[in-house]
Amino acid sequence: MIWIGSHVSMKAPDYLLGAVKESIGYGSNAFMIYTGPPQNSRRVDVDRFRLEEAAQLMQESGIDPERIIVHAPYIINLANSLKPETADFGAEFLQEELRRVTQIGASTLVLHPGSHIKAGADVGIRWIADRLNRVLDADDSNVVIALETMAGKGTEIGRNFEELQAIRELVNKKDRIGVCLDTCHIHDAGYDLTEFETVLDEFDRILGLDSLKVIHVNDSKN
Ligand SMILES: [Zn+2]
Repeated sequence: MIWIGSHVSMKAPDYLLGAVKESIGYGSNAFMIYTGPPQNSRRVDVDRFRLEEAAQLMQESGIDPERIIVHAPYIINLANSLKPETADFGAEFLQEELRRVTQIGASTLVLHPGSHIKAGADVGIRWIADRLNRVLDADDSNVVIALETMAGKGTEIGRNFEELQAIRELVNKKDRIGVCLDTCHIHDAGYDLTEFETVLDEFDRILGLDSLKVIHVNDSKN
């Protein structure tokens, strides 16, 4: 079975119910959502998401809630050691986001690892892992945080499989860490997608294919 879908909007008044309807309109059996605007941290109460009607419609349409992928907002930067309050705010937001993901019934949360802002990748990786530990050690759900492969723009961490593995290596609850493979980002980071089998072999060797939770299939202007 191939699980495939697209990013759909989740907005007032129908929220999750609207997202499910849009997905069904595309004939998909999976979909990705933000719990609110990706560029800010304002979130409406989950009570307004119309969860029961959405669950009912998903059941009728054969969409397993496991196939709902939630994408965390861009504003989270767990790696910002130069502004610790930003990293800590990100951790708090992530904690709440895990609760929302659990309430929605989903079990995968995609997260951009963060940018080290000139502190160096090693420092950034440690900061991300420290805050992931703080968040995950206090969370009993089974939601997997899928760290996304990044292009390496600016000081982004996650520009290769090794950096994601370095983060996971430092996380206590390793089974709660997965990977979202973004084809645009890995292309721009220098992976040759015309040799996709080779890329997957490398992924398997460094991260393990079982950690691959989502592939974000998209093209690249580059
Ligand atoms: Zn992303």
